[in-house]
Amino acid sequence: MREILVIAEHREGELRSSCLETISKAHEVADKGGLEVTSVIIGSNIKSLAEKLREYVSKVYLAENHEITYYDCEIYKHIVSKLIREVKPLMVLMGHTSYGMDLMPGLSSHLSLPLVTDCIDIELSNGKLNAIRQAYGGRVNVKVSLKPSETYLATLRAGVFQPAKPTQTKGEIVEVDVPPLELKVKHLEVIRPEIEDIDISKADIVVGVGLGIGAREKIPVVKELAETLGGVLGCSRPIVDRGWLPQTRQIGFSGKSIKPKIYIAVGISGAANHVAGIKGARTIVAINKDSGAPIFNISDYGIVGDLFQVIPILVQELKKVK
Ligand SMILES: Cc1cc2nc3c(=O)[nH]c(=O)nc-3n(C[C@H](O)[C@H](O)[C@H](O)COP(=O)(O)OP(=O)(O)OC[C@H]3O[C@@H](n4cnc5c(N)ncnc54)[C@H](O)[C@@H]3O)c2cc1C
Repeated sequence: MREILVIAEHREGELRSSCLETISKAHEVADKGGLEVTSVIIGSNIKSLAEKLREYVSKVYLAENHEITYYDCEIYKHIVSKLIREVKPLMVLMGHTSYGMDLMPGLSSHLSLPLVTDCIDIELSNGKLNAIRQAYGGRVNVKVSLKPSETYLATLRAGVFQPAKPTQTKGEIVEVDVPPLELKVKHLEVIRPEIEDIDISKADIVVGVGLGIGAREKIPVVKELAETLGGVLGCSRPIVDRGWLPQTRQIGFSGKSIKPKIYIAVGISGAANHVAGIKGARTIVAINKDSGAPIFNISDYGIVGDLFQVIPILVQELKKVK
């Protein structure tokens, strides 16, 4: 059976969520096309991670070497190219993360294989890979079809797909030989930003505030709704541009992609660049005083009304049932 090979990303002993999201999409494509989902993991001290990974895929290629303490493009490229030549997977997938953006173009050029990046959806049609990507700042979705190839490469946008759930059976672990390494880059340390805000992409409930709020001093009105629901506050870009909330809270094309169970858009018009970041939300609720606002076109529930009237009532009712 031909494989969809997912290149696993991990950091500080944890599989990254983009990796599980990519595996989830890989399973969807594999189930329709009679393929199996496998994964390759590269690094040092990663046996326990490989054990975890095998809960999600039918086979884990384990490339372990104590010298590979950090991601290194050249080493990854060397190991994965060799694996692709041997296994001949139909598809190789990775998250469209900084690692994915670094590694996959190199693999594509090294092996002369077609690559499509930053996909928000993929499908196989008669053995060919079709992908949906966004263009013109998220205003349009473009369907691209790759030329027939033995193997296709693609990176998938993080935050768009729900993470995979463990399967019933554990996949086998296949150890891969790591050739003697010639490390050209030496990683010295990881430097973190001093101020770390909450990560809105991990929240189950997000309430987004938009320009409809009118003034910075009014933001607590929407924040109270987020807190009453046990959720977090996000926002549209103009709120960040005005310095009313930090960039870490921005949802959308040039902000974060979120995939909460519930997203409530308050005073947000629903511009394409904002909507690009909420495609993974399970349920979308919009509160807007303009019944013609585009946000209502993609909402599951809508409240047409002035947010300053609607939110206090919502908060009051929610507090009663808490
Ligand atoms: C390259 C590029 C990248 C971008 N990236 C992003 C991005 O990542 N994220 C993002 O959000 N935007 C992004 N934008 C901007 C985007 O195109 C829109 O301009 C922006 O999303 C609009 O924000 P908004 O909905 O808050 O404001 P508006 O479009 O001004 O909408 C305000 C809404 O509030 C409603 N309203 C007003 N008063 C009330 C009230 N009292 N009660 C209820 N409703 C009320 C109005 O009816 C209106 O629908 C980007 C733009 C560009 C060019």
